[in-house]
Amino acid sequence: MTADPVLSACHQEIERLQCEAYAATGRAPRRDSADQSFRDHALAEGLLDDMLARRATWLSPARGAGLRAEVLESWARAAQVPLPTPLEDRWAYVGMLPLVDDIEGTLPGLGLPSLPRPAFGTLPTGDINAVCRPVPGTHRHIILFETDLVPFLYRISQVVARALPASIAADKSISFSCSVPGLRKSVARDQRVLDRFHEIVRCFVVGETPPLPDSHFKEEPHRTLAGILSNAMDVFAMGHEYGHLLLEQGIAPGASIAVSGAPQAVLEIPQGTWQDELGADWHAFELTAGSQRKHGVSWTLGIVAIDCFLRCAEIVEGAFALVKGRGRWHLDSPHPPVALRRGQLKAWLQFRAQKQAGDTVNGLTECLAAALEIMKADTYRRLDREFVGRLGLRDVLFGL
Ligand SMILES: [Zn+2]
Repeated sequence: MTADPVLSACHQEIERLQCEAYAATGRAPRRDSADQSFRDHALAEGLLDDMLARRATWLSPARGAGLRAEVLESWARAAQVPLPTPLEDRWAYVGMLPLVDDIEGTLPGLGLPSLPRPAFGTLPTGDINAVCRPVPGTHRHIILFETDLVPFLYRISQVVARALPASIAADKSISFSCSVPGLRKSVARDQRVLDRFHEIVRCFVVGETPPLPDSHFKEEPHRTLAGILSNAMDVFAMGHEYGHLLLEQGIAPGASIAVSGAPQAVLEIPQGTWQDELGADWHAFELTAGSQRKHGVSWTLGIVAIDCFLRCAEIVEGAFALVKGRGRWHLDSPHPPVALRRGQLKAWLQFRAQKQAGDTVNGLTECLAAALEIMKADTYRRLDREFVGRLGLRDVLFGL
């Protein structure tokens, strides 16, 4: 596939892991056959036309036609991208490309050196955390994302954004009303939010694709907010793996601080088992905030998104336990307990001494926590009824 022997070795290692993971989980890889691409393409074109038709009232016909052409062109380009392995999922892989570009474009602005581009790909791990592994016999690393990670984070962002009480202020910025009791009431009442959250988490843990969301989740300002949150979560996931690569190069967390304007101080990472993981998180926080700033988005929302990512990782972990690990395949790269990682996030905010930003983040994350707590409880109840409850009855009937 490629003339570079080191890159070939990386791709072979990805393929070996993909074979193992697909066999272990029983999940079927989406084969990249011309026929499949054509069918997906026809379906996607239909969806695109639908979306443009719904926007016809405020989109001029010329702008609509321009958008349509732009999207079709990007799909055509995506169809041409060479894949690292025959088992690679084209659309998941193509979704990772802009993330790699984003991170690599953010490094210089933070005063960090550029890194040789790692080989990357996808695996059906069922894990929200991505993986960075050395490739035996080379000095290179590979970065692996769960195949459905990017779409999963987008779907979750749509629900979370819908649950947060956001409105568009007079100056067109998004504003939030952070009242936890008010939010608890509104989420518990919004059956569509609870249904959709359950549907997304359930599909993720059993390895299925959920149906498309209804228009409830695509209204403004929730739509914009969902885009910001999911972008930041994607960047954080990729940034964490680049964090490992930076640590490999001996670049300590905090190396970027002087450039980004925070006070000069010593950044302390707790020593011990999780030191590398927490170090990678610190780099990822900086990269996420740096990417947000680069795109002209408030970096505080990026921090809220990271908190959301970590909470969702925990929720998915619990959901897997309830359905007894279906569709799951573990690589030997465990991540620290979420509470520890979230504690570090707080410490990072304090270190940056951004009092005002800290207050906004804390208010929003408190709201987010309340909303996710309700959605989690509802989802676990349903999974318990479907997977555990049924088994319990069998236990009683057959004495298994
Ligand atoms: Zn890690």
